[in-house]
Amino acid sequence: MIHISEVGPRDGLQNEKKILPIETKVKLINQLVNAGIKKVECVSFVNPKIVKQMADAEDVLKQIERDPSVSYGGLVLSQSGVERALKTEVDFLNVAMASSDTFNLKNSKRTVEDSLKELSKVIHDGVTSGIKMIGVVGTSFGCPYEGRVSQNKVLKIAEKFLEVGCKEITFADTTGMANPNQVSELVDEFYTTFGKEITLALHFHNTRGLGLANTLAGYQAGVRHFDSSVGGLGGCPFAPKAVGNVCTEDMVNMFHQMGIETGTNLDKLIEIAQWLEVEIGHELDGMLMKAGSS
Ligand code: ZN
Repeated sequence: MIHISEVGPRDGLQNEKKILPIETKVKLINQLVNAGIKKVECVSFVNPKIVKQMADAEDVLKQIERDPSVSYGGLVLSQSGVERALKTEVDFLNVAMASSDTFNLKNSKRTVEDSLKELSKVIHDGVTSGIKMIGVVGTSFGCPYEGRVSQNKVLKIAEKFLEVGCKEITFADTTGMANPNQVSELVDEFYTTFGKEITLALHFHNTRGLGLANTLAGYQAGVRHFDSSVGGLGGCPFAPKAVGNVCTEDMVNMFHQMGIETGTNLDKLIEIAQWLEVEIGHELDGMLMKAGSS
């Protein structure tokens, strides 16, 4: 069984120029849940002046129909973000930083060490309030400014996240630099270091067309939790040339064709992608939304 964390409403919409009205965002999240998605990254608690797409985070969370079997969450990058998030009804928070100094400095004006210090407090505050905190290591497979990032660096950040109370770790390929061999090597190293009982998730972008290949490599190495975006929506406003996340319905199709369950309804996901494309106003990258399910 594959556990999907749908990140389209956050990672996806955050990178779109067009700002969707709140009703459309709420409808998107409700529809994804209706299609069987059990975990949604709905919003991010970042500076609304810098990321206007996410300025209505609190209202989005207030207006969605809550399904008690679904986990609703958001992204935080700083202390001010977690303070906002803790006033809402989030079930989980993704706490993210990059593994290279250059990317962190450009993204949050902090070094890796300083980011870790601030995020340790953020994680502590979340855990104390009973929120499930997930540590996301961005640029885990390469940094657009520094190139390949050493496994050791990535694992050290994961170690710190776990030490301060994260219950899960996500390795994110922020700018689509991973290849399947690298994925299985890093996953193997993670399980060897921390054991298989720690939940590891993978977050790929399809920037260089290797999103599904990397997903499969992660699956074969033992990972069962994957982030994806309906329609292949997404990117990162701070990452040069980043394109969308792995497309949810394309990934679901791959697993279903292989006889592996995802708990989701492929036809409903395709319908959502087709509807979203009209709302966004430009073509989305998903394949199944054009080809249809077989
Ligand atoms: Zn991303």
